Amino acid sequence: MKTTRRNFLLSTVGGALAAGANDKLVAAERKLPVLAEADVVVCGGGTAGISAACCAARHGAKVLLLERWPSLGGMATNALVNIWHTSDRKKQVITGFTQEAVDRGGRFVRRMAHYPTRPETHEFDSTGMRVVFHRMLKDAGVRVFCNLTAIESVVENGRMRAVFVDTKTGRKLVRGKIFIDATGDGDVAANAGVPFDFGRASDGAVQGMTMMFRLRGLDAATIKAHSKDAQRVFELMKKLRDDGKYPQFLEMAARSYLTSPRDPVVSYNMCPVAGNPLDEEELTRLSAQAREQVYQYVNLWREQMPGFHGAEVEQMGFALGIRESRRIRGLKTLDAKMVVKAVKQPDAIGHGFWMIDIHDPKGTGHTTWVDQKAEMMPPVGDSYHIPLDICLNNQIPNLAVVGRCISATHEALASVRLQSHCMVMGQGVGTCAALALNAGVDMAKFDVRKLQAQLRKDGVYLENVP
Ligand SMILES: Cc1cc2nc3c(=O)[nH]c(=O)nc-3n(C[C@H](O)[C@H](O)[C@H](O)COP(=O)(O)OP(=O)(O)OC[C@H]3O[C@@H](n4cnc5c(N)ncnc54)[C@H](O)[C@@H]3O)c2cc1C
Repeated sequence: MKTTRRNFLLSTVGGALAAGANDKLVAAERKLPVLAEADVVVCGGGTAGISAACCAARHGAKVLLLERWPSLGGMATNALVNIWHTSDRKKQVITGFTQEAVDRGGRFVRRMAHYPTRPETHEFDSTGMRVVFHRMLKDAGVRVFCNLTAIESVVENGRMRAVFVDTKTGRKLVRGKIFIDATGDGDVAANAGVPFDFGRASDGAVQGMTMMFRLRGLDAATIKAHSKDAQRVFELMKKLRDDGKYPQFLEMAARSYLTSPRDPVVSYNMCPVAGNPLDEEELTRLSAQAREQVYQYVNLWREQMPGFHGAEVEQMGFALGIRESRRIRGLKTLDAKMVVKAVKQPDAIGHGFWMIDIHDPKGTGHTTWVDQKAEMMPPVGDSYHIPLDICLNNQIPNLAVVGRCISATHEALASVRLQSHCMVMGQGVGTCAALALNAGVDMAKFDVRKLQAQLRKDGVYLENVP
């Protein structure tokens, strides 16, 4: 997909922005009130944004967080993606803010039995974590606005000055000294004119999306006693799909869901769809299609699988789970080699270790996770560095991105998109923003050794930095 560049200079909308002066700005012949201003404005309240906002505030910055949905957590809560991965299969290599979220989560988070010999380490209750994320932000002193979408970026003389937000009482401005785009889709950076990539090199398609869901009403003892039926039902699902009567599903997951009854906290990751998450009409259609898909299979299980007769959908994602959209081009781009060779970087802000886990952009439900190819994962007991420069860019020095919209190839994003990895970026960039402001320099100019020292002090695992 082609890269776009749009600059929203205040002059083009007929206004002038005198830094820190007026509380009314003229744009498109209208006076726009300033809703709020801060040192650091974080747009997007997913795991990356929450981490960035808390960490910037803890280092003395006045921080605002803007979130378009009514609750925080992004994919983690609103799409029911409720699992964190922190281990390189021998030891925990993601600590810092992620560990804090685990600890603050209390009874909403539980350590998985195989810790730390598999990368998946913690499951959480998405409903409870919505509350915990709010508490963490409040304790850090972050001012939070939900129900606000950052819709335009205001750039003047090469620097971000403000974002426009649409509110119930009209369009307003939010001003800041540093902006952190944690929208997952890179809305703010793309609007500000920073180039981006979209999709895989061959055809521009992004990873498949999934409607996550939770079930109640399963009879675990009956399921266990009829384990042979699981294979029969699984084969039936495949036949119905292959005959075109039923939609695609994630085979690996379905088999395990039928054989091992899950408790209600566990989300089912089984119903894939494919398309463009930036096209609202398509996203609406895909979300509706995915919700139908969930009921088709749950109804089939109710009819066919002993122990599932009383199954009901307890919850579906408030939003369709999106794995990939814009990848904002940064000072550095993480690539597959850096991931699988566990490359260490001088500007490291933490570690990542997840494999290149690509959910088929055609929506078949196939994921490269199933193939478990050694050449797609860092070696057991080793991890790669997540560099700061994948979050910074060449165009706008007071704008950074964190989370799944950072600078990575389609393949590398399939590793670094994990929530724990997003929280590493959030902590690194949030801390950098506050320290850079304090030092009176741009983020890229801040001494990275000092940043790394601070991150270690704050509990981040950061080893083998060259
Ligand atoms: C089905 C599925 C399964 C996955 N499985 C796993 C897994 O097992 N383990 C794992 O760790 N990761 C998994 N992932 C990946 C992971 O969940 C995401 O990559 C990660 O949550 C991204 O975090 P983020 O903060 O960058 O973005 P998001 O979580 O998408 O958060 C972005 C936030 O920004 C808000 N926003 C967007 N645009 C605007 C705007 N213009 N203005 C204001 N707010 C805005 C959104 O509402 C949202 O709250 C999975 C993802 C999916 C979809």
